[in-house]
Amino acid sequence: MCVATILDGKALAERIRAEVKTEIAEIGELGLATVLVGDDPASDIYIRRKHDAAKEVGIVSADIRLPVETSEEELLDQLAELNADEAVDGILVQLPLPEQIDEARVIRAVDPTKDVDGLHPFNAGQLYLGRPTLVPATPVGILALLAEYEIPLVGARAVVIGRSDIVGKPVAHLLLQEHATVTICHSRTSDLARETIVADVLVVAAGQPALVTADMVKAGATVVDVGMNRTDAGLVGDVDPDAMEVAAFMTPVPGGVGPMTIASLLRNTVRAARFRSGALAFPRA
Ligand code: NAP
Repeated sequence: MCVATILDGKALAERIRAEVKTEIAEIGELGLATVLVGDDPASDIYIRRKHDAAKEVGIVSADIRLPVETSEEELLDQLAELNADEAVDGILVQLPLPEQIDEARVIRAVDPTKDVDGLHPFNAGQLYLGRPTLVPATPVGILALLAEYEIPLVGARAVVIGRSDIVGKPVAHLLLQEHATVTICHSRTSDLARETIVADVLVVAAGQPALVTADMVKAGATVVDVGMNRTDAGLVGDVDPDAMEVAAFMTPVPGGVGPMTIASLLRNTVRAARFRSGALAFPRA
């Protein structure tokens, strides 16, 4: 019986955070603003983690909280203010937003050069075109983890479960760019196991505990479990831990993708600051 090597996101994230801290000390002051509308407890936890990490590396962070009844126009006004604020390098609007607010419109309202979540159509389009500019943090973190453990991607069969704008689609594009042959699965995929069993690299981002069981994993595969599901048994991923006995490499939950997401957000903030200062050229028409 083989037991997979752990893809240790916690250790790599710690190293990345130390690197970011050094970069920030060189750059000088750097600002990140987050906007949370409403009081969703899970969103509150994510936001607090992001601010703790930002502070630790020397990023000045503003935690803007708006009441759940905030109108779309009020949120857009807030974003216009942040777009114009010279002290703000990165803006992140925590999703989901209350139902009276059109998420797509809000995402379009963030200055693309400050869009550290990489969700603005300009940045999403750049990724689609194979010119990653600002890319969502979770996929960036996943690719960094795969690179750290030298997981071969060229010509590999990569299967992604999930097609969200923040994880599934961007991670599929990054894998494609690394020359993997990519399949994207979703809730209408007719036979999930038939797809997953051939995957050399399997990325699971569905938000369904134990969606992937050990018998769905190819022997020797690399499995990245993005899922974060709060259950009575605590925080669990989307992959049954028994898959550790089949895979060659696997991320733990917690301690895999989660810490990499936070570290990559900090990296994105540095990248956004470099775009704004002109140290990196932001692609313009
Ligand atoms: P999402 O927007 O809800 O998307 C989930 C995707 O999974 C959808 O594309 C959905 O298909 C697909 N799906 C759901 N049930 C499925 C099933 N039974 N079979 C196949 N596909 C299925 O979620 P998300 O924002 O991408 O997040 C996914 C998970 O990752 C969540 O658990 C979230 O908490 C976690 N997450 C973790 C991190 C981290 O840092 N670790 C970061 C972001 C997200 P349809 O499109 O057909 O509905």
